[in-house]
Amino acid sequence: MFDKILIANRGEIACRIMETARKLGVATVAVYSDADARAKHVAMADEAVHIGGSAPKDSYLRGDVIIAAAKASGAQAIHPGYGFLSENPDFVDAVAAAGLVFIGPSAAAIRAMGLKDAAKKQMQAAGVPVVPGYLGENQDPAVLAAEAEKVTYPVLIKAVAGGGGKGMRKVARPADFADALASAKGEAATAFGNDAVLIEKYVDKPRHIEVQVFGDGHDAVHLFERDCSLQRRHQKVIEEAPAPDMPPEMRAAMGDAAVKAARAIGYKGAGTIEFIVDASEGLRADRFWFMEMNTRLQVEHPVTEAITGVDLVEWQLRVASGESLPLRQEDLSINGHAFEARLYAEDVPAGFLPATGRLDHLQFPADARADSGVRPGDSISPWYDPMIAKIIVHGHTRAIALSKLSRALEGTQVAGSVTNLAFLGALARHEGFGRGDVDTGLIERDLAALTVQPQASDAVRALAVLAAANLPEGPNIGFSLWSPLRRNMSLLHQGAAVEAQLAVLAADHALVRLGETELCGRRVAGQWRIDGAPMIPVQKAAGAIHVFAREGAFSFTLLDALARDVMGAGPTNATLSPMPGLVKAVFVVPGQAVVAGDRLAVLEAMKMEHTLTAARDGIVGQVLAEAGQQVEAGAALILLEEEA
Ligand code: ADP
Ligand code: ADP
Ligand code: MG
Repeated sequence: MFDKILIANRGEIACRIMETARKLGVATVAVYSDADARAKHVAMADEAVHIGGSAPKDSYLRGDVIIAAAKASGAQAIHPGYGFLSENPDFVDAVAAAGLVFIGPSAAAIRAMGLKDAAKKQMQAAGVPVVPGYLGENQDPAVLAAEAEKVTYPVLIKAVAGGGGKGMRKVARPADFADALASAKGEAATAFGNDAVLIEKYVDKPRHIEVQVFGDGHDAVHLFERDCSLQRRHQKVIEEAPAPDMPPEMRAAMGDAAVKAARAIGYKGAGTIEFIVDASEGLRADRFWFMEMNTRLQVEHPVTEAITGVDLVEWQLRVASGESLPLRQEDLSINGHAFEARLYAEDVPAGFLPATGRLDHLQFPADARADSGVRPGDSISPWYDPMIAKIIVHGHTRAIALSKLSRALEGTQVAGSVTNLAFLGALARHEGFGRGDVDTGLIERDLAALTVQPQASDAVRALAVLAAANLPEGPNIGFSLWSPLRRNMSLLHQGAAVEAQLAVLAADHALVRLGETELCGRRVAGQWRIDGAPMIPVQKAAGAIHVFAREGAFSFTLLDALARDVMGAGPTNATLSPMPGLVKAVFVVPGQAVVAGDRLAVLEAMKMEHTLTAARDGIVGQVLAEAGQQVEAGAALILLEEEA
């Protein structure tokens, strides 16, 4: 085993790897960018090396600087985590050339699987079923259109260099092919510097089922499947293992195909074979096809760990240090069921816009595994993936595990940033998901119901009033029942005032009047409770009061004169960039009339495109940005003329 390793990553995965290293007595070296100087992964490591600026290309993607840091600190091996340099074969070669061990597959294995077309050809040759389609070199649009007809519609255009759902377009009919091809190629050229595409049959009622494989360069085993069908825009949201309703013969066939794929490239380390499954007539052993291989540890690996009892990072370190596979196939089995939910700083009503912010309060339930790269007080910066945590639960059956997931999400408290917590909670309670009737279209079909935002109930608002009143505890409060202390209180919540009248009857007994409703509060063991409502946690942090009811996090501040002024100033004249990004397009010119909701510009940031719209009716005064321009968060892009 190694004495010391360097982790070339950040956030939750860097912390996750360090936990296992510590368990194995291996010292750890963290690397960090400017933005991460005070990050959790830096604090957790035995040593930490600063490697450059906040943008990934100035730090986490600088292979030469990272290798120099490993040499200087005496680390013997580098763990790449996922993303960043994890699937970069040139980096793997450079690590070996520096006399260090790359904790992962060989450069040759990564190259073999790096492009989807080449990978599919190789898998076909190894006898693994692949999605039918066109994998040719000829990229002439007319040829591609003719091939799409042969594949038969609907088809999926995919960037051969694709990843993270980019450069992918579903096309339902021939008339739409040319436009879809142009936009897929455009996106692929920007994201991957390679605009080549392949064409696949679009699988009906698709389920995404992937198999965890593990090799030691000589032999390979699989650790069963994960179902990742709950996706939004081809990105995974909730994952589970094993796949619901998986027939044993299909599990065996998929496991065999995955092991065959891993053996065909002499695979070493943790990898995932992703399959697309046609579930239109249930799961059948002849209805799964290879999509791609991810030659790294996957974000959702914890659900596999939960059902197999294997620590996959431990296996990675053992195999990389020269040991052979720790277990044989027949020693591996499935125990119970596990779910993982990805908790993000995201503005769901604004179209899942990535959010940033300082996490004034952060608390995870005690009976779930929470893999997180942030602590209370840390910030979600605009530079990286806005993931806050992965919440992982395990139960004897799927139904038990799912109800544990619901409870774990209800017990998760985040204040300081908007999150997708309520969306995850709604998914966990979704009836079809509960039955295991999943496919990749589920979220899109039910999006409206899944994204209903929780509203602060009267009980929530009354608790905020009681917390804001700061009533002293103890017997010496000194009011008598016939002359209760009455106070009017104003709180600010989501840009609106909450007006309440508080009547204090005793140190542990108060009435809160909200409009026509009066609620009775009782203080038990230091915590206010509202009669007839379940216990609702309240936290005070950073000058605000946060009430956590189910997956809703409701923040209140005492309303002062300043806040009233801000509220009074109607919709703004300026459209600001919500985050750092690239202006893709500007649709308006000075002098143009717009109405509220009109499209003004498109910004590309954090792997997605965001449309910026007019906040009110008006005339465009100035256009301060142009397509192709990189802009900072908060930069004014478009100004409307003052209202008459
Ligand atoms: P998984 O299949 O495990 O969900 P993905 O392939 O979506 O993982 O991505 C794994 C990691 O790599 C994630 O952290 C994701 O943010 C990052 N990633 C993937 N594709 C891109 C990309 N095109 N640009 C930046 N980061 C990416
Ligand atoms: P990426 O490299 O971006 O992860 P994948 O090839 O793994 O790309 O596909 C991402 C997702 O797109 C899959 O998880 C699945 O939901 C959907 N998808 C991919 N191929 C097909 C297909 N042929 N038919 C239907 N859906 C597909
Ligand atoms: Mg994929």
